[in-house]
Amino acid sequence: MRFVPQEYRRRRACVLGLGRSGQAAAALLVKKGFKVFATDLRPRQEIKTALKGLASKIAWEGGKHSDRALQASFAVKSPGVPSRAPILEKLKTAGIPIFSELETALAFSPTPDIMAITGTNGKTTTTALLAEMFGHRRAPVAGNIGTPLCGIIGKIQAKDTLILEVSSYQLEDSQSFHPQAAALLNITPEHLEHHGGMPRYIEAKARLFAEQTGDDFCVFNAEDPLVLKLSRRAQGRRLYFGRQGTYTHCWVEGRKIKVRLPGVKEISFTPPQLPGAHNLDNAMAAILLGLGWGLKAAAVQKALKAFRGVPHRLEEAGTARGLRCVNDSKATNVDSTMTALKTFSKKNVLVIMGGLHKGNPYTTLRPLIESTVKGILAIGSAAPIIEKDLSGLVPILPCGDLRTAFETALQIGSAGDVLLLSPACASFDQFRDFEDRGDQFKELVRAAG
Ligand code: ADP
Repeated sequence: MRFVPQEYRRRRACVLGLGRSGQAAAALLVKKGFKVFATDLRPRQEIKTALKGLASKIAWEGGKHSDRALQASFAVKSPGVPSRAPILEKLKTAGIPIFSELETALAFSPTPDIMAITGTNGKTTTTALLAEMFGHRRAPVAGNIGTPLCGIIGKIQAKDTLILEVSSYQLEDSQSFHPQAAALLNITPEHLEHHGGMPRYIEAKARLFAEQTGDDFCVFNAEDPLVLKLSRRAQGRRLYFGRQGTYTHCWVEGRKIKVRLPGVKEISFTPPQLPGAHNLDNAMAAILLGLGWGLKAAAVQKALKAFRGVPHRLEEAGTARGLRCVNDSKATNVDSTMTALKTFSKKNVLVIMGGLHKGNPYTTLRPLIESTVKGILAIGSAAPIIEKDLSGLVPILPCGDLRTAFETALQIGSAGDVLLLSPACASFDQFRDFEDRGDQFKELVRAAG
């Protein structure tokens, strides 16, 4: 079902969840003349502080989801509200349609041109690289990248190409989301508590291309078995990439990325200067998206050359007492930390791990810890689990917090070692978010350097 604002003459909306996306949705709906009631389980005071000026423009409640929500003609669900929240069931029983924040925004979009990127890892990097390929052409970026689409939709123009980073949370709620171009980078276990298991997580990812038709295209990672399997369901044109084998449309040959698209002669690109083979995947996905959309090969190559990555992803943070410090605060899951460790070849890495435990074991890191790590500095509430899962390989020093971990590393490290912040955990036990964690790390490096 598509959100058609004109159909709701009573103009009463309910917004579920008042995080960044919920706030943006509420503000947009107010602007469009709707009466908004918003509800969030967080304490009233916390919400009031977050809402600022918006608090006086909408009716809202905190600490509960009351039946007042049922007075609305439709509801907008923030991505963070779990799909099994009882309020959703109540709304459904009352026959009140529920739309996602993304689809709410798109109902007001003056442009039909949408490109979307999802995957467990690599979304932001691929999205940012693709945006760079558009150069001076207008291609606003929004979604999971930190800017809710509802927040910028008022500034979108008819000729814009919207580039959307979409998470599984956003996709699971979508019913009519229809990007003309899309990319599915990879699927590994993540957010399983939220979705209620792997099959539902996979189905959420499949919503990316579920509405596509033969006029559209979707880019797939041919070397990810789950992605490959899902791709067979796609109705649009399928473009495949992979870095180990040679695939139909995009592959790696020597130091080059090669592309062969129907009707175009083979093109060779120099990859971006980013660490790690995983970034070749991101580059290939962005290249196929860009060329598939009709961008010139020269514009694509120019962006590949200029792109320096996104902060907090294996970001060089400077040196502190001879230690090369790398900020990979965005590694909020075990897979990302594995990806980070794969980019090092010597056994000279001191890694700061820990934070809020997400549920997956750290044991899969053991071989890489053995080959590249000389010490683990464990922080946050996950520290005891990390100690247990990785015991017997290298010294694991429980440090409590980031500052202590950093200072310990300066004491035990030798010049030329790498100090890597790659937590494999969420940040919320000790930080506002992963950006805050990475910024604090960079500040420690700066102050010590
Ligand atoms: P996302 O937006 O999906 O979280 P990012 O581009 O922000 O992805 O990268 C987050 C982390 O995920 C990086 O620090 C890196 O460790 C890992 N990563 C990035 N791209 C890939 C990829 N294509 N495959 C596997 N891991 C990746």
